[in-house]
Amino acid sequence: MSKRDYYEVLGLSKSATKEEIKKAYRKLSKQYHPDINKEPGADEKFKEISEAYEVLSNEQKRAQYDQFGHTDPNAGFGGGGFGGFGGAGGGAGFDFDDILNTFFGGGGSRRRDPNAPRKGSDLSYSMTIDFMDAIFGKETEVEIDREEECGTCHGDGAKPGTKAETCSECSGTGQISVTQNTPFGQMVNRRACPTCQGTGKIIPEKCPECHGRGRVTKRKKIRVTIPAGVDDGQQLRVAGQGEPGVNGGPSGDLYVEFRVKPHEKFIRDGDDIYLNLPVTFPQASLGDEVEVPTVHGKVKLKIPAGTQSGTKFRLKGKGAPNVHGYGTGDQHVIVNIVTPKKLTEKQKQLLRDFAEISGDEVPDEYESSLFDRLRRKVKGD
Ligand SMILES: [Zn+2]
Ligand SMILES: [Zn+2]
Repeated sequence: MSKRDYYEVLGLSKSATKEEIKKAYRKLSKQYHPDINKEPGADEKFKEISEAYEVLSNEQKRAQYDQFGHTDPNAGFGGGGFGGFGGAGGGAGFDFDDILNTFFGGGGSRRRDPNAPRKGSDLSYSMTIDFMDAIFGKETEVEIDREEECGTCHGDGAKPGTKAETCSECSGTGQISVTQNTPFGQMVNRRACPTCQGTGKIIPEKCPECHGRGRVTKRKKIRVTIPAGVDDGQQLRVAGQGEPGVNGGPSGDLYVEFRVKPHEKFIRDGDDIYLNLPVTFPQASLGDEVEVPTVHGKVKLKIPAGTQSGTKFRLKGKGAPNVHGYGTGDQHVIVNIVTPKKLTEKQKQLLRDFAEISGDEVPDEYESSLFDRLRRKVKGD
């Protein structure tokens, strides 16, 4: 089984910083975590990501990997450094040419059979969705530009009625050997064949549709199911909807990242939803029953007499469904007592009368509850 390059697994360049490696790992491991991603193959991908991170996050392991690539622990090369180099001639576990390429600057690229099947590229698409669609899910479509096999030449790049020929320079391998003189003697180095650009094929008459590329870019509609409960920044993998594979390899995948528009009333935090509920001073003092909007429709809420501004009520199960099917969140209603800005003469008089009877002392319990909240907030719990 051939292993993918660790940098490729994490989507990074060889010069990635420690911070970038960490960031990429966090993002990908979240995306493919088996608890989160139920798509087939996510499990293996997660293991692959973890393995890549284990090596690249460790300076010593990374340096060894940069120099030698994947090493087979059974080939006696696991100890690091040059310990096992003597056995390299046997070719067990790693590619001698690759090591030479790395040492002598021969491009460093892995030898690749141009005719081997390769998986198509993954595509990503950012999709902005409405707050409510994120909560309840929706069937929708996205339009993406993706490469497809050319219908005129069926992918071989040759004009209909003609054929692609095997490159005579490299006999179809896509690689040529170049002998170099080095301080250690003559070394044979492999390079991409300049005649066929490493493809192993020559197309004498190119397909007029794709100009010999064998593929064309087409706008394609793809059905996407927004999962109920999806949150801003989460990704969905649509298997097999990326670009087509090469030489019969499987297609890549499409990753749809959701951007959820904010709602004018509701604020979402995970599966929970928060709502600010303005109430009048008489409602808060005397108590009332009010109708509160939730994403599931209106719900009656009892405001007990003497409710303070900032009091939180919980409406169980009125939040967003968990995207992985673990129940439903709650809605938290935060009471906000609104002080009227405009008063009629009669209202003013009534308030003056009220003030006269109550005096200007603020009840202790109010002050202490406010300070308790403040204290908790400062302490961060
Ligand atoms: Zn074509
Ligand atoms: Zn060639």
